[in-house]
Amino acid sequence: MKIRYYADADIQEWHDHTLRLLRTVHNNHDILVEIVQIDEQYGPITNFPGEVRSSTPEDVYERDFKQNRDLAANISRPPSKVYKFEGDIDIAGHVAVVTDDVQWASTLQGDAYGHGTGAKDKTPIDFLADVSESPSNRICIECAHLLDGDETFCPACGFEPQ
Ligand SMILES: [Zn+2]
Repeated sequence: MKIRYYADADIQEWHDHTLRLLRTVHNNHDILVEIVQIDEQYGPITNFPGEVRSSTPEDVYERDFKQNRDLAANISRPPSKVYKFEGDIDIAGHVAVVTDDVQWASTLQGDAYGHGTGAKDKTPIDFLADVSESPSNRICIECAHLLDGDETFCPACGFEPQ
């Protein structure tokens, strides 16, 4: 399992905060992190503890999002309704949980501030903050099953988080 950031976020503060949290997630929990840079706005990303590569929004949408049933089930909506807006692909700024394929991705940008109630579970920054504190707040590090933090073991694979 790894956590992938589709960079760069629209707002530099979100971008910088996302990079800081990804480093913390990696350093504190030994979780693989990577970046697919699809909209470079703030220059090259250096000193990152994972792979950084470039792609285009179109390739990422076709490969990772478009026909992805696991993602659709985990975000409870068709990806085409979330990551395309008026025909434009809107993926930069999001983070995803990846196994062989994208299992979950944030559906709102930035952090919960300004999005209203219920947004915290859907934003990249809140997700990474929860995972950096304790991965089992949000995901099973063994099988990438989504958790809500109350479980004493993962209902999918039985793993007991410490
Ligand atoms: Zn599990």
